[in-house]
Amino acid sequence: LTPNVLDSVPARGSDELLRLRARHLNPTLSVSYREPLKIVRGEGAWLFDADGRAYLDMVNNVCHVGHCHPRVVAAGQRQMALLNTNTRYLHDNLVEYALRLTATLPPALSVVFLTNSGSEANDLALRLVQAHVCARGTVVVDHAYHGNLSSLIDLSPYKFNGKGGPGKPSHVEVAPMPDTYRGPCRDAAAAGAHYARGVAGAVARLAGRDLRTGVFLCESLLGCGGQIVLPDGYLAAAYAAVRASGGLCLADEVQVGFGRAGEHFWAFQRQGVVPDILTLGKPIANGHPMGAVVTTPEIAASFVSGMEYFNTYGGNPVSCAIALAVLDVIADEQLQQQAASVGEFLQAGLRTLQQDYEPIGDVRGCGLFLGVEIVKDRAARTPDSAVARTIVEAMKQRQILLSTDGPDDNVLKIKPPLVFSRDNAAEFLHKLAEVLARLPAAA
Ligand code: PMP
Repeated sequence: LTPNVLDSVPARGSDELLRLRARHLNPTLSVSYREPLKIVRGEGAWLFDADGRAYLDMVNNVCHVGHCHPRVVAAGQRQMALLNTNTRYLHDNLVEYALRLTATLPPALSVVFLTNSGSEANDLALRLVQAHVCARGTVVVDHAYHGNLSSLIDLSPYKFNGKGGPGKPSHVEVAPMPDTYRGPCRDAAAAGAHYARGVAGAVARLAGRDLRTGVFLCESLLGCGGQIVLPDGYLAAAYAAVRASGGLCLADEVQVGFGRAGEHFWAFQRQGVVPDILTLGKPIANGHPMGAVVTTPEIAASFVSGMEYFNTYGGNPVSCAIALAVLDVIADEQLQQQAASVGEFLQAGLRTLQQDYEPIGDVRGCGLFLGVEIVKDRAARTPDSAVARTIVEAMKQRQILLSTDGPDDNVLKIKPPLVFSRDNAAEFLHKLAEVLARLPAAA
């Protein structure tokens, strides 16, 4: 950069700087709102813009322990001042983290690989699958998202067709989303077995093309699919079908692990199963880039004989120090329990609003992973993404940050940091009622 160019950089926080974004940054970068927010600081469940306005952050699936938690910041700073380097050296933080993480998991999941993101974790998991079962056939759930690497866009129906992604590759089969609100089976008691037959069907379609199933990837709670909780019995039956064909089962908890599900620390535990491979990311280090694969010694051992796995930063001392502090804070502040109780309060409040306001077609979720379906009319369940967007914008005016997801982009997704309190929940419900009462304009 010449001094002239530097001279022309507009002041930090200025509108001009935002405008220049269009010229110099990834043009697809999402800004979520009609008028982008310039967030400069975070604390607990709150974000602050350049003018000091506070926004309640209800779409944060990264900072479980709250923005800039002092213990997490201190742990990172302390380690940064001591040593931060690549992972060629065995560091106590790395070993301690592997021990502490696996202590939260079923005994079979005892070997940890650390990466820099959720996508890298899923990509590494695919390599483990190839090394262990050497079968390319892959079953994924409709509308799933598993990451931004080339290997994963191919496995993310969310990105197939119409969203700038590739079409479905021939080694991938898509099982229907187990959606008891819109799907063909809406009976909670029968849904697990019904939708698991969809996974068995995908395995059979691959076999029909002489493709053995190597892996079934499934988020333990469906995020992009529209905040969907898997029906009881779904994973047990789906895993049985996949394993019968010699394939492995991967639980993607990049978005939902570490207590978000409330009652259980890991969301797959709701289903009474143990995956062969678990992938983690986002909240693992509260926003610091990090991901992980946890698997069995047998699967991990398939790597040792031919290939080495190494990445420069995965498991570096600073990431591990931060991730250790995250585990400490979740335990000491009882954030899993808080997610369960505040989530229950929030869900009950949303159901009360549903009685009064026609656009709320469905309220679902567990812990602090909730979804609200916005519909044109309840009987037909017609998705209404325009009203969902109006609600998001009107809530932003009231300094509450929400967002939408789902195949029709009409599901309000609610996933605040786990430090989100009952008072925060009450404030949200009060403001949402105000917005719903003013629809369709809602300004
Ligand atoms: N899997 C799931 C379920 C995700 O939600 C995401 C991120 N949205 C990823 C994988 C990819 O993680 P990352 O963005 O850290 O690469």
